[in-house]
Amino acid sequence: MGELQFNQSLKAFNTFGVDINASAYTEVDSGEELLTALTQSTLPKLILGGGSNLLLTRNLNALVIKNNIKGIKVIEDQEDHVIVEVGAGENWHELVLWSLDQGYGGLENLSLIPGSVGAAPIQNIGAYGVELADVFESLECIELASGHSYKFDKEGCQFGYRDSIFKRGYKNQTCITKVRLKLSKNPELNLSYGAIKDTLIEMGIENPTVKDVSNAVIKIRSSKLPDPALLGNSGSFFKNPELDQDTFAKIKAKFPNIVYYDLPNGMVKVPAAWLIEQCGWKGKRVGNTGCYEKQALVIVNYGGATGEEIFQHADNVFYSVKDKFGIELAAEVNIF
Ligand code: FAD
Ligand code: NAP
Repeated sequence: MGELQFNQSLKAFNTFGVDINASAYTEVDSGEELLTALTQSTLPKLILGGGSNLLLTRNLNALVIKNNIKGIKVIEDQEDHVIVEVGAGENWHELVLWSLDQGYGGLENLSLIPGSVGAAPIQNIGAYGVELADVFESLECIELASGHSYKFDKEGCQFGYRDSIFKRGYKNQTCITKVRLKLSKNPELNLSYGAIKDTLIEMGIENPTVKDVSNAVIKIRSSKLPDPALLGNSGSFFKNPELDQDTFAKIKAKFPNIVYYDLPNGMVKVPAAWLIEQCGWKGKRVGNTGCYEKQALVIVNYGGATGEEIFQHADNVFYSVKDKFGIELAAEVNIF
């Protein structure tokens, strides 16, 4: 276990690159080390993975615990699928690459998502028509207040769109230590998002494998999203709003060229990026922050932005979308 550090800068531990201090900080490699860390301080605890879905707006009077629990193993091997158990501190994209090397399908559309495996269930990570819930089997976690261990199956996690019970009732209450995924030996490709099909054609691939789909996703993402190592960001700042038919019809009557997707549950999803762009924010810089030039939903730190400055920018974006469309965007990023 890492030594307890006091007054530790978290600049290197959040992809916005915001320079905020935690009053105490440590790293854990196992569930046992986590239990020890929990008894070492009476401060409130905050679990940290890759810091790629966070906005830190103020110094944290907390013990920040970085989860470094590692390990990938196949715990069940059947004719058509495997169950893989993964330590929460493993890097998500490295897990995806490992699964593809084994020939397992299910994670290819989720390639190049930053962060740790343990954070993946928190917001039920998703991209290109696939979400974690599609391959999720179960997870193990430790309750921070009691040190008790619990197992959650898919139903228990109450997964929703970029949402789970760990963003609601159990928010900041647990540390996920292991995640189990069910991966297919006979993968069915999900090419429902047009950009994937177009990119595969561009790449000259007619009969794609899971590896080809992953490469296509990596190609699209690399061309469109800012690399946090070069330009601080936490991915999509807001969720895409889902509207009921009546609300949507009223907005469409006023803005006939609105972009939208009909969802199987009868709701209508409107890309938040489109709403933000219509308000004139795309590529607009304000001080050290702004909305990324290629994807308006991504708020970036051009260098030296404070968490408060980024939060203020997000607030301005929120109110301009509300004023123009009457839609209240919900933050996807976890704000502290
Ligand atoms: P952190 O930012 O470290 O933590 C996020 C939250 O989870 C915090 O509240 C933290 O306390 C909690 N947490 C972290 N680990 C644990 C644990 N083990 N137990 C309990 N709580 C924990 N997301 C998508 O869904 N789809 C995308 O396509 C996508 N693309 C992105 C692209 C970019 C460039 C960036 C920067 C982000 C993107 N994201 C995307 C957001 C982010 O990658 C995911 O939300 C990811 O799962 C966050 O992982 P993390 O380890 O960095 O979490
Ligand atoms: P995009 O392809 O430009 O599409 C814009 C939005 O429209 C997306 O957010 C997506 O919603 C929706 N969309 C596109 N095609 C769709 C379809 N066929 N059916 C239903 N909805 C559709 O999006 P992008 O910004 O380049 O991102 C591509 C994918 O990566 C998306 O799935 C996005 O969620 C994911 N991503 C997530 C983050 C994050 O931080 N959460 C960051 C970057 C990218 P959905 O978002 O609901 O899929």
